[in-house]
Amino acid sequence: MNFLDGLNAKQAQAVEHIDGALLLLAGAGSGKTKTLISRLAYLIGAVGIDPASILCLTFTNKASSEMRERATLLLQNQGIHSPTSPLLCTFHKFGLLFLKRYISCLGRENNFVLLDGDDCKKIIKGFESKIATSTILSAISHYKNSTLSACEVLQNVSDSEERKIAKVYEAYQNYLERNNLVDFDDLLYLSYLIMEQNPSIAQSLSKKYSYIMVDEYQDTNPLQYKILRFLTCTHQNLCVVGDDDQSIYGWRGADIRNILEFTQDFPDAKMIKLEQNYRSTPEILRVANALIEKNSQRLGKVLEPMLESGREVEVCSYESDREEMQAISKKIIHLHKSGVKYEDIAILYRLNGMAKGVEDGLLRAKIPYKMIGTLRFYERAEVKDVISYLRLMVNLNDDFSLLRVLNRPKRGFGKTSEEKLLHGANGRKIREFFENERECKECIGEKNYKTLSEFFALIAELNNALAHSFEKFEDTFTQKIDILSSYPIAEKEERRLNLKELFASLKEELNANKELQEYLNDLSLSSESDKEVSNSVSCMSVHLSKGLEFDYVFVIGCENGFFPLMGDGGDIEEERRLGYVAFTRARRELNLSYVHTRYYRGKASSLPPSRFLYEANLLEDSQEIFTTGAEVMGAGAMVRHKIFGVGRVLEATGKGKEMKVRVSFGGNERVILASFLELL
Ligand code: ATP
Ligand code: MG
Repeated sequence: MNFLDGLNAKQAQAVEHIDGALLLLAGAGSGKTKTLISRLAYLIGAVGIDPASILCLTFTNKASSEMRERATLLLQNQGIHSPTSPLLCTFHKFGLLFLKRYISCLGRENNFVLLDGDDCKKIIKGFESKIATSTILSAISHYKNSTLSACEVLQNVSDSEERKIAKVYEAYQNYLERNNLVDFDDLLYLSYLIMEQNPSIAQSLSKKYSYIMVDEYQDTNPLQYKILRFLTCTHQNLCVVGDDDQSIYGWRGADIRNILEFTQDFPDAKMIKLEQNYRSTPEILRVANALIEKNSQRLGKVLEPMLESGREVEVCSYESDREEMQAISKKIIHLHKSGVKYEDIAILYRLNGMAKGVEDGLLRAKIPYKMIGTLRFYERAEVKDVISYLRLMVNLNDDFSLLRVLNRPKRGFGKTSEEKLLHGANGRKIREFFENERECKECIGEKNYKTLSEFFALIAELNNALAHSFEKFEDTFTQKIDILSSYPIAEKEERRLNLKELFASLKEELNANKELQEYLNDLSLSSESDKEVSNSVSCMSVHLSKGLEFDYVFVIGCENGFFPLMGDGGDIEEERRLGYVAFTRARRELNLSYVHTRYYRGKASSLPPSRFLYEANLLEDSQEIFTTGAEVMGAGAMVRHKIFGVGRVLEATGKGKEMKVRVSFGGNERVILASFLELL
């Protein structure tokens, strides 16, 4: 047995490539990830590269831990045990580790707290802007990922709305700095700033990580790309693997050009294409290939099936979404009875909003399931309460957490008192204001001052208890802080179980010698999708299914308008790539379904079958669905859209199936494919 066993010639060639840039470009299921893992083991076990000088970046934490396990196994099989280990993580985790070490370059301390999306929303809401919070947040995220500071944005704004957003961005960033908080994008953005301002740091890091590998390279954004350029400033040993047909994060700023231009960025780069698919049956592959061929912007690759023939891809239609889940549940039970494990089955959907119906259906049928990526565990209110206490134990100056739990459970410190406190502190830290006893008492009153003082004492007590033992800490916490008293009785049991789970995971991590602060940061980085799924059917959005594989895959909601999802100028080519990702997750059987009436967000919609079913040659072409009225949808025409209602056409471009129409729905402009509109 050696490191190249079980690989084909091209894969082996990639594994044996040691120095210089390498691009492994290949379709789904061709063994890109497998090759990357073998290369990792090969560099360590066959070439003798110090593991500590290898950095391997993946898209999810789960992918990196899987990679670690599989590479370790390969090395163990060769009898190799290394004292050091490579760094395998996501880009964001890498940013977190980097900031821990270097955030002092920005004059900040390294006990910063990582915020989650919910925290960020709250902070933005606090600025009381008239612009929607989600609009502001996505603009800020976009700016950070384009490496633009608030100051730079302000210098270049072209209209008043943009100026307003930039002002909020400025205030938000100041707030984060003052409270030593970082958001998700900061993990990369601040890392980038530090490397840009301190070339010597970039150089020393580049020397440290002399071998870098990236999986799913097609989904890296310009900021990640720039960081990679810094990390390779002293060498060219960057090996990236990806598939242009699976680029599905364009909406979040991923830039497919990163992969298309790789050989220009690294002129000596070697490119290897893998053309065999080891994952799916020929039947599944034929359908996936037929679909992706309809895209015009692609490099074009062929994928040859290596598995034996299996069952044809199945397309089913149902009256309603409820019926769809009933039928799928029946099929799952049948599969299970015939010996299939639940964990080899997945249900995929384009919209997270469909998760609820799936969950209800599986519950009714008593099928064990795991919802991946819906409400993150740590985003649940009671869990966040406890986390806020933990954060305060690490950093008493974390006013953000303090304000969340000062009156939770109730301590008689209401909204008015909080406003007085903030007003009195006038930009100072609450803790600092509190230490100016006389001033603070005058401002909030004796009684409130006492409450605040007891609160700080409580945090100190928790820290003392934890220093003693975890059990003591848990006892003290549960005795002194009745978190659940703030929630309705009906919700208590579920919330109590969540807290139990939180304490159990905290205990486990701290016992494994993790610092509390490290635990907190990792918590914000990890998501439900990282949890191990065993003995249950996996349900997730198509986005989250990237890189995974299951024997049996059900893709629900294949209705035109939902998948492809249309509206807001949806990008049909990216939708098609999503379809391709969904179809290629299946190893043995793929089942696609659509319904006549779907209840989505409280509304019933009747949409025709997905155009993807026609494009993949699964349904007979039905021209009228796509072309009705398209030729006459000129400016001024009135049209009806199944979801957005009646609107007026402003402009029509393109022809036939690709005809796009700009429509005003009561003032909201959207660009929509003509095939989704009915001419009135
Ligand atoms: P994706 O694009 O979906 O991320 P991928 O290209 O990364 O797919 P892998 O997940 O590495 O593909 O491999 C797909 C499946 O094919 C895995 O089950 C893997 O073990 C198997 N496989 C890959 N290469 C070979 C090979 N040479 N011989 C046998 N099986 C292989
Ligand atoms: Mg992969």
